[in-house]
Amino acid sequence: MAKNTNKRKKTVQKTEKRELAMIEGILEGSPDGIGVVVVRLDCGCRKMAAVAKDGEPASKIIMYRDMANSICDKCKEDNGAFMRVTESFIHWSEELSDEDKKMISLKVLGHQEIH
Ligand SMILES: [Zn+2]
Repeated sequence: MAKNTNKRKKTVQKTEKRELAMIEGILEGSPDGIGVVVVRLDCGCRKMAAVAKDGEPASKIIMYRDMANSICDKCKEDNGAFMRVTESFIHWSEELSDEDKKMISLKVLGHQEIH
């Protein structure tokens, strides 16, 4: 069989190690969470929240900054404004159908996303 060289490029966001540690902590405290929304801001701060199977938040929104005791002044001011979001995705912690993922992504992020 011919090798498929024209493989469709998939954009898979890689969850960073330090983010994973946070995600695990969030999920531990959120029994309803089936995933964690990760929002990366242009200043380097992160916003995260667990999401339930129905697309509703399953935890408080947590903001943090790597290697820092608190988030930056900008974020303190605008609370991590949507305008400054560089990336947002959901880190799934449970196996869900593509349909469910689509529905939740749409509800939470405003766009569909499967990976
Ligand atoms: Zn910030």
